Amino acid sequence: MDPLALNADLHCHSDVSDGTLTPEGVAARAHANGVQLWSLTDHDETGGQHRARRAALELGMPFLSGVEISVTFAGKTVHIVGLGFDIDDAALRDGLAATRGGRSDRAREMGQSLEAAGIAGAYEGALKYASNPDLVSRTHFARFLVESGVCASTPEVFRHYLAEGKPGFVPHRWATLSDAVRWIRGAGGMAVIAHPGRYNFSPVEEFAFFTEFKQLGGEGVEVVTGSHRPDEYPKYAGLAREFGFYASRGSDFHSPDESHTDLGTLAPLPGGLIPVWELLAERVHTP
Ligand code: AMP
Ligand code: MN
Ligand code: MN
Ligand code: MN
Repeated sequence: MDPLALNADLHCHSDVSDGTLTPEGVAARAHANGVQLWSLTDHDETGGQHRARRAALELGMPFLSGVEISVTFAGKTVHIVGLGFDIDDAALRDGLAATRGGRSDRAREMGQSLEAAGIAGAYEGALKYASNPDLVSRTHFARFLVESGVCASTPEVFRHYLAEGKPGFVPHRWATLSDAVRWIRGAGGMAVIAHPGRYNFSPVEEFAFFTEFKQLGGEGVEVVTGSHRPDEYPKYAGLAREFGFYASRGSDFHSPDESHTDLGTLAPLPGGLIPVWELLAERVHTP
């Protein structure tokens, strides 16, 4: 079989971060949708990995460990996905714990800043949606603002309240690019740039980001993702070839009610790319 034709979904979230399904629930949905290689990539947290692996293997679905690390690069937040690392690696676990560390204070500040914008109780409201109290995310605030009728949908909340420059946005310093890549590689995994089309970098900034990531030991980039428009696939396929990066594919699924891209339903990777799962074959857990 052509390796590019594998239905791999290597980017999605459970309620261990800002998804709404449990790791077992995401595994079941991925399997039901025909996913042939699955990775759960919760934000800054590997606490769901053992459960995800167990559930996948019980379903007969090959599994790669995963995480999505929040990084501050050139004053912007970018996301780096780690795949195929040792789930119990201590340096990775400690690094992620430090990255999560500022989330509670940030969430309180977001609550205060929304309060100043006339929306009361958002911090307490967001907390109710966060199954993992260590991982309060903007997504949990968005769910509260939709539930309380302030906005009609999560994209609308982000546009009006949670994006940079809006009243509920609180700047935050995440991990450095160098630390994120080092933690992932140190644990035996591959570092992958998540959804590069989302960052609004200028071409010069984007080239600098890819160049520095490669120099630090980064090896992959998401080309086909639920966070890209299909017309962005050829652009990032081209950059993957230019930089010699392995290509990844993942829905970025968070919730049956919110996500427009379901698990396992994306287009295949474009031709002429080498998928990340070629290099990671030995890191795949098989039933
Ligand atoms: P945080 O890590 O707390 O800054 O939250 C970031 C999360 O917010 C992302 O992982 C997405 O799940 C979600 N998000 C970011 N931008 C948007 C958007 N425009 N629409 C919907 N969800 C978004
Ligand atoms: Mn998210
Ligand atoms: Mn992301
Ligand atoms: Mn994601």
